[in-house]
Amino acid sequence: MQKLILFVVFLTAITGCGDELKNKRRQPGINIVQQPLKSSPPFLLMKESRGCEVKRIENYDRFLNLFIEGNITMSSRDLRDIFRGLFVKSADTSIITKTIYGLDIELVPRGDTMEMVVHKKGKSVSVCPEKKDYQRESVESASMNASYFITKTNKAVRAQSPSLRIAPIKVIISPSHRTTLRVQSLGLRKRSFYRTDNAYYDPSDMSVTFLPHSQAWKNAGIQANFWEVPMVASHEYGHHIFQTILRKGMGGVKGMRTLTPCFADHPVVEDGEVVPTATFADKVSILSAYNEGFSDLIAFYSLSNEERSVQGVKCLSVTRDVAQPFFIDGRSKVFSPDAIYTFLTPAMTTQELPCEITNFQGVHTMGAVFAHSADKITTQWTQSKEKKLSITIKWAQKLAAKLSGMSFLSKHQLLRDIYALYITTASEELEEPLNAESCKLAEETFPSITHSIPQCKGL
Ligand SMILES: [Zn+2]
Repeated sequence: MQKLILFVVFLTAITGCGDELKNKRRQPGINIVQQPLKSSPPFLLMKESRGCEVKRIENYDRFLNLFIEGNITMSSRDLRDIFRGLFVKSADTSIITKTIYGLDIELVPRGDTMEMVVHKKGKSVSVCPEKKDYQRESVESASMNASYFITKTNKAVRAQSPSLRIAPIKVIISPSHRTTLRVQSLGLRKRSFYRTDNAYYDPSDMSVTFLPHSQAWKNAGIQANFWEVPMVASHEYGHHIFQTILRKGMGGVKGMRTLTPCFADHPVVEDGEVVPTATFADKVSILSAYNEGFSDLIAFYSLSNEERSVQGVKCLSVTRDVAQPFFIDGRSKVFSPDAIYTFLTPAMTTQELPCEITNFQGVHTMGAVFAHSADKITTQWTQSKEKKLSITIKWAQKLAAKLSGMSFLSKHQLLRDIYALYITTASEELEEPLNAESCKLAEETFPSITHSIPQCKGL
């Protein structure tokens, strides 16, 4: 069942919306589902130009369609760094090795496992030099948008951490991605559904995928061209950076599957009583939430204020805006006792809630709590996005070094200590001592966090 587990646990999508597989996060390995799955076919992007009259790009300024502050804006950008010849990839292939379209894949059950069948291999995306602007629904437009913002985030991160070695990635645009399952309620008949309306990072082949719109969302007039939202491209690339940094602590790129030896489930005895430590599932959930928050912060600090806006984007608006203290339904972005309890309690339902309702069981929700809280902590000392970006990277590096030493923590302690590490990292990096005022602010974001911050004790 490894293949399905791999897909369920490790793909890090931008939102939980429309992603039926995510429901099975706490029950990996299941390929028989109780409910018939709803699915709408994808609205695939078109390759607009085939065969070019001119073979050489002379002018790199092109127009990108950007979904900024709820509006589609045309913006001219210098795209020099994202072309190699006519192909959309880094000039020196150091950031993006290739951008592909036309991929047609299907996950099918084979015995107890899920197997990937490739119906059609993707082709590399190229553009025509004579064509300056492409239609919104074209492969070329989506590829240029995604590559431009991934490249921008890469450069911002490398400027703060020149020694960090980030492997190049592959970008996949608008694939047809079908999953076929055996459905118990239909007498074990097979049923297929498409993955749509989302974007995700896959660490197993270091790729960022922008899924197509579903026909249903398209017909309902829902704007979710995620390749047009700069924050989404940067966020997915943020997962790649997190994976790069945490690789050692997690025991290898191939996933947290190999995390067990260095991060095992040990019972701990304190005062004659067995204290349960975080289980493997708890650790995966907690690290996944921090992975989401980290990626939101990377996007927030590496893009311009205008580019990082998610206003008007379904499932992201307000909720995934790091600066906003509330979710879209008004719940506070605080590690409240209720939020922590809900997050750390195993799922009681497999029903996915609409993304407009805050669900603290979700890793994206707790990630948003972390991102906002972390930003609030650093904002008391600095407004500099560069410094905040640097702190965020430093925190992940420290976490990687400390992770194996955190094996004996309970799940609550683990959640708390990882956030406390951000606060102490910020204080050290900015050379701002933790005083009564800053410790009080920390407590407001996470009650009892000061138990994990030695500098706050006795204040
Ligand atoms: Zn994500």
